[in-house]
Amino acid sequence: MREENCIFCKIANGEIPANTLFENDMFKVILDLAPASRGHALIIPKDHGNDIFDLDDKVVGEALILAKKLGNVMMKEFDCDGLNVLQNNGEAAGQTVFHFHVHLIPRYKEEKKILTWFQGTPGENELEQLSEKIRQAIQ
Ligand code: 5GP
Ligand code: ZN
Repeated sequence: MREENCIFCKIANGEIPANTLFENDMFKVILDLAPASRGHALIIPKDHGNDIFDLDDKVVGEALILAKKLGNVMMKEFDCDGLNVLQNNGEAAGQTVFHFHVHLIPRYKEEKKILTWFQGTPGENELEQLSEKIRQAIQ
């Protein structure tokens, strides 16, 4: 299903052109217009889902399998030293286009790391409480 005024629905279904690396009946993979590194690509499902929680399990699974397949080719052909596979859900997580997509970001040794975070110090019993909460809630 498509959503009115969704840029990635339009790109994935060919209404707006993009530099395409791969396409099948479920996905289109394009180069990011504002790349974080050389060869930064986006795996975009043709069906609309706002984020991972809004998407069919099959599409979510296939997206990761495709990330592995394309990632392998990109590592060789772009001659990169590593690859970040990442996916943002919600504004607080940095999502700006609200149509699920997976980023494939080639990494090169000579470049500074761009995806990192400050290591925190959990409070007393915090890890125990957090893990217990999820163990209780998960089906
Ligand atoms: P997000 O922040 O939602 O995880 O990632 C959205 C990504 O889509 C960004 O990296 C942004 O540069 C890219 N992007 C946004 N609009 C377009 C577009 O029209 N074409 C292409 N190729 N990439 C886009
Ligand atoms: Zn869409």
